[in-house]
Amino acid sequence: MDIINILPDSVANQIAAGEVVDRPAGAVKEMLENSMDAGATQIDLVVKDAGRTLIQVVDNGSGMSDSDARLCFERHATSKIHRADDLFAIQTMGFRGEALASIAAIAQVELRTRQHDSELGTQVVIEGSHIISQQPTVCPPGTSLCVKNLFFNVPARRNFLKKDSVEMSHIEEVFRRVTLIHYDIGFTLTSNGRLLYDLKGGTLMQRIAGLYGTAYKERLYAVEEQTDLVKIRGFVSRPEFSRRTRGEQYIFVNGRFIKHPALSAAVERAYGDLLPERTYPSYFIGLTVDPSKIDINIHPTKTEVKFVDEHALFAILRSTVKRALGQFSLATELSFDIPEEFNLPPAPKGYIPQQPRVSYNPDYNPFRASGSQTHLKLEPSVKPERLEDLAEPEPPVRPEAPVAGSCLQVQGRYIVTSLSSGLALIDQQRAHERVLYHHLIQSDGGKPISQTLLFPLQCHFSAADAEMLGELMPDLKVYGFEMSAMNQTTFVVTATPANLKDEDLQALFDQLLQDYKGATMQKYNKRSESLCLSLARQMAVKAGTVLSQEEMQQLVADLFACPMADTSPSGKRIITIIKPEELLK
Ligand code: ADP
Ligand code: MG
Repeated sequence: MDIINILPDSVANQIAAGEVVDRPAGAVKEMLENSMDAGATQIDLVVKDAGRTLIQVVDNGSGMSDSDARLCFERHATSKIHRADDLFAIQTMGFRGEALASIAAIAQVELRTRQHDSELGTQVVIEGSHIISQQPTVCPPGTSLCVKNLFFNVPARRNFLKKDSVEMSHIEEVFRRVTLIHYDIGFTLTSNGRLLYDLKGGTLMQRIAGLYGTAYKERLYAVEEQTDLVKIRGFVSRPEFSRRTRGEQYIFVNGRFIKHPALSAAVERAYGDLLPERTYPSYFIGLTVDPSKIDINIHPTKTEVKFVDEHALFAILRSTVKRALGQFSLATELSFDIPEEFNLPPAPKGYIPQQPRVSYNPDYNPFRASGSQTHLKLEPSVKPERLEDLAEPEPPVRPEAPVAGSCLQVQGRYIVTSLSSGLALIDQQRAHERVLYHHLIQSDGGKPISQTLLFPLQCHFSAADAEMLGELMPDLKVYGFEMSAMNQTTFVVTATPANLKDEDLQALFDQLLQDYKGATMQKYNKRSESLCLSLARQMAVKAGTVLSQEEMQQLVADLFACPMADTSPSGKRIITIIKPEELLK
């Protein structure tokens, strides 16, 4: 009995679609690329429900003839290559002739297209690979492609989609990757009727400012180099604007976004020790190389690429970035960037500077504290509930705050104290994270303790980030932030939580948004948990901060008052106990 049969096209297309269009952002990428291949100078992207119900791309490119409008939905239908040889000289983003066939197999699609020299355009409606109608229509020159109800006939895929916020952040990432390298083209992005980005064609710097806010302009240095091997153009962030997570790091090769760990490393190496520890630079770098010197993995969804001369490229990129950092930072420091701390007042007349002296107590023995004093069962320290409590000249008598035994700070990083069970080694940063997290997560309901800023502070965001921050504002208020939106991309902060010590607020919010986006990708995190976690992590004293005896004792007492005092909110171990037996050894 024969059991093999050829799959109908509609089924084959549906299977192929799984590769090209795995989520709405995949369709967005293909559609934007088609518009650019068609030579458009203005491209408008409209999505509803994160692309679930609608993705529409309207361009003013070449448009298609009547028969092409029908043919473009066939598999392997492409105008971009004709023969195998063409594969080695591809100038366009697409060439496989797969995207539209795939999209039409899994959605309800309406195409309206008109060539510039035609009077009339064509409308084609196609659903699940079946042509519903084709007719002449009146429309502007160019192409409008409407993709409705993605995966309407593939419930498994539809159910697999993540929350709207997650799918939307994927779409925005695609949008950034496309718009950053095609900065000469105008783009808009509208989501659920709101215009998120309106980017005019211009320079790369203008594009970056359009995406991330105008404040970004002052944070970047230009990089530029031209050798036989490669042409480099772009921007890197000034070291002081590095971020605590890998944020905006974009490398493009010949107009395509790529991921290339070695090249990213070359950029980061160039910073050397200019970067504060555990922070990362932002960069937007375009490389142009001879196409015969690279092997772009031509799978449509892949972003890897191999270079023939990787070592040379690495060296050139690193020294180019290094030079940019060196030249510019020197120039700015000499002219106007002198930090105020350096303007020390002159010493009074006759003052003879003395050598600093270190004083210590020779009798001090950190191991002598008696066991009972530092028993683990400590009373919770009491934190004032309201601002008025703080302001009162004579605070009401509070229950005895617990006293931890004397503490010793080791390597600016660990607090050593003696407990009945042995010698405790406490990671100060993680301990503080736990304490802050506990207080933040409990602040629901009660009036937060906040401090009003002497000068209201402005923070700038991309339109999309600003929208997200706007959503989070009620939550942040609970933790003691007072802020309001000034316009689409700027917030004014007037108060912060009281225990927030001179933090860079812009960096704090940037990080908060980044963490929040990361957390929404892992669906198990509750909003308040991820916000508190991010805030606690940022507000905690860092390793290397010198703590006074009182501060250490307070921290230890606060820590033992928290539930789960032995692990940090992000799950790391806080306390290591060295047992008496081990001490004996
Ligand atoms: P590919 O881009 O790999 O050629 P697609 O399935 O994405 O394959 O598109 C098929 C063909 O449809 C393209 O080769 C192009 O001729 C035409 N096409 C698609 N989108 C547009 C557009 N926005 N404007 C003009 N022509 C288009
Ligand atoms: Mg294409």
